[in-house]
Amino acid sequence: MGMRDYHLHLWPHDQLAYGADLEQIKSYANKARGDLVEEIAITEHLFRFRQSGQEIGQWWLKSNQQSLKEAVGNYWDHHCRADLDQYVEVVSKARNNLPVLLGLEVDFYPNQMDQVKQLLAPYPFDVLLGSVHWIDNWLFDDLDDDIFVRLWDQVDIDQVWEQYTRRVELLAQSSTCDVLAHPDVIKLTGKVPKNPQPFYDRIAKALQEADMAAEVSSAGWKKPVGRYYPDVDLLRTFYQYEIPITLASDAHYESGIGFGFLDLIEEIKKIGYKTLSRFEQRNRFQVKI
Ligand SMILES: [Zn+2]
Ligand SMILES: [Zn+2]
Repeated sequence: MGMRDYHLHLWPHDQLAYGADLEQIKSYANKARGDLVEEIAITEHLFRFRQSGQEIGQWWLKSNQQSLKEAVGNYWDHHCRADLDQYVEVVSKARNNLPVLLGLEVDFYPNQMDQVKQLLAPYPFDVLLGSVHWIDNWLFDDLDDDIFVRLWDQVDIDQVWEQYTRRVELLAQSSTCDVLAHPDVIKLTGKVPKNPQPFYDRIAKALQEADMAAEVSSAGWKKPVGRYYPDVDLLRTFYQYEIPITLASDAHYESGIGFGFLDLIEEIKKIGYKTLSRFEQRNRFQVKI
């Protein structure tokens, strides 16, 4: 069936992390095999690594959203601890004899994607996921921090979707990444515009022009919205635009690997998809479902 989980983290967000552990990755690979997941990509967040702090800097200080600066600074300080070289070395070691790919989940930082590309260029990544998690200083998908959650009651939903979609377009135009992660993560609270189709068309067009794939992620089932990413109408739009797709759990711990994949496969087939993407050294191949 060609199931591959192309979105996995090593460290839960509440955990300080200083380095990758080969035994943990071996254990991930074993769990995957048991669930008929053929291959996994380790895609830790770029902002987990000190090198991102050095390269990108304190980007949140540039924003006008004064009230959120401290929260972002604290978030960054908590997360930005591990060493990217050590991560690449350990995941590469696992990659030598296990069905494990070296990946990364890369956030969109306005006007700084050239710096990000420069930082990542020397490393032998198999697949880079591109994500929009931030609208200025607002980490809109962090539902664990009241400071960020409160904003959902104050914003205009159409405007927020516009801001999100614009960032996806700029991320795609930056040619930094191979796959758009959780394509409509902006729906996570369940607040959705009356007519989201114009946003769907823009996201699909941006991916088509950038020759990017999109992930189909079971992570949305665990959020308040209770639906996978992308929503079925966005997935249908992707199909019409011939956007290739991957499968993703976005798990931050071993037991979540491959979560809901049999159901996702059914959804994908219903739309008409017959292949999934496989990556190796940032080259994309199609394999039958
Ligand atoms: Zn993400
Ligand atoms: Zn993720």
